[in-house]
Amino acid sequence: MSKSEYQRKRDFARTPEPQAAGAKPKPGRWPLFVIQQHAATSMHFDFRLEAAGALKSWAVPKGPSTDPRDKRLAMPTEDHPLSYVDFEGVIPVGEYGGGPMIVWDRGVYENRSVDKRGHDVSVAKAVELGSVKVWLHGQKIGGGYALVRTGSRPGERPRWLLVKERDAEADARRNPTRTQPESVVSGRTLKQVLADEGSEADRAKAAKRLA
Ligand code: MN
Repeated sequence: MSKSEYQRKRDFARTPEPQAAGAKPKPGRWPLFVIQQHAATSMHFDFRLEAAGALKSWAVPKGPSTDPRDKRLAMPTEDHPLSYVDFEGVIPVGEYGGGPMIVWDRGVYENRSVDKRGHDVSVAKAVELGSVKVWLHGQKIGGGYALVRTGSRPGERPRWLLVKERDAEADARRNPTRTQPESVVSGRTLKQVLADEGSEADRAKAAKRLA
C-alpha cells in the first residue's frame, strides 16, 4: 500500500498524532474545520478544512485575523487525516513538526467557493483553482474567510493569503489569537499542554519558543 505524504513524514511509533483517517463521517452532516496553534520550530496556526474525506491544510504564521484589512500568509501543507481535528498534544522534539499543539478553534463550515463563471465548486476543486471561500461557525471566529493563491514563480512553493471577508463578524478591534489563547477543547494553553504531556526533552526544547 502506498503511503501518503502525511504518513511518510511521520514515525507513528514516536508521535502521538493519528495514523488513520478514523470513522467515515455520516452523510449529510456539515464539514468540519479546525485551527490548531502549533509551537513547532516556528510558531504558527494550522488552518484545516474537511474536503473529500481529508483535511486540506495551510500553515498560517500569524494565525487568522478578524480584520478584513489583514492579509495573512498561509503556506499549504500536506493533507491530514480527518481524525486530526481532535488532535491536541505534544509531538516529540526531533520528529516532524515537533512541539506542542492545541485545538485553538473548531467548528463546522459552509463552502461558498465559486469558479470564474460564478458556479459553485467543491472545496477540493476550489483548492485546485486557487480560491477558496468558506463561512466558518467557530467558537472564536466566524463568518466569511477567503483563501487565495497568489503568484509564485515556477519552482517556488505556492503562497496563499487568508483574509477575513467584510461581514457582520468582521471586527478590527478584536485580536483573538492574542486575547483568547486557550484550547477550545481543554481550556489549556500551549504552555500547559507542554507541561502536562511533554517529556523532559520536549519541555527543555519547546519552552524557549513559548517564553
Ligand atoms: Mn503545524
